[in-house]
Amino acid sequence: MFVDSHCHLDFPDLASNLNELLRNMTENQVTHALCVSVNLTDFPRVLALARMHENLFASVGVHPDYENLDEPDAQQLVQLADNPKVIAIGETGLDYYRLQGDLEWQRERFRQHIRAARACGKPLIIHTRSAANDTLRIMREEGADQIGGVMHCFTESWEVAQQAIEMNFYISFSGIVTFKNAATLKDVARKIPLARMLIETDSPYLAPVPYRGKLNQPAFVRHVAEEIARLRDTGLDEIATATTGNFFRLFRTAGDDYHARY
Ligand SMILES: [Zn+2]
Ligand SMILES: [Zn+2]
Repeated sequence: MFVDSHCHLDFPDLASNLNELLRNMTENQVTHALCVSVNLTDFPRVLALARMHENLFASVGVHPDYENLDEPDAQQLVQLADNPKVIAIGETGLDYYRLQGDLEWQRERFRQHIRAARACGKPLIIHTRSAANDTLRIMREEGADQIGGVMHCFTESWEVAQQAIEMNFYISFSGIVTFKNAATLKDVARKIPLARMLIETDSPYLAPVPYRGKLNQPAFVRHVAEEIARLRDTGLDEIATATTGNFFRLFRTAGDDYHARY
């Protein structure tokens, strides 16, 4: 069995086709998926999906690419996270690729999310792009190691992966690891301890080979696992078991059902 640790099933392209996507998950042994919140306006839709479907979970947070909105403070995030179906805080982090200029507001927003995660005891989903040093620095300054979480859709170097792992974080691989030109990332996927690895689609974006360029969906996380198994010269079962176990270890509150069964 596989778990998609990061998708956006509430986005219109996917939500309009939900029943088929859930069927495809079942057919591909993708048993669970975490629907990740990107802003507070859409959060109720994410939560509704998770409440409606036993095998879907939700997170709450505001993505660093969303400008000019009411900034959430830690207390507000903690209140919204007070639901058994909300298993994580995020996605949050820094993105200096999509936006430029004075991004102090991104850093402050990131800090509020880390404080919220520590306060409510739910792990962080961190997005970082062209901002690895500041991301790691703020994680350190805010004590993110005390709550842990995942570096989602990881595209950074082995050195960055190691520093995140030292702070109690998991590294999540998306369809990018299947792309021919992703040599550095393939190398990271070969090196990192299995005990620290997660897999995701980040759907609707970043469909893995052989669906590259098409609309992505949680069922395709299987192809991410297949590529990692190939890179590490190991069985698909080993990758499936490790990444699924890691998911329920990290997102402790999602695990009640899982831990009862396995
Ligand atoms: Zn992201
Ligand atoms: Zn995302």
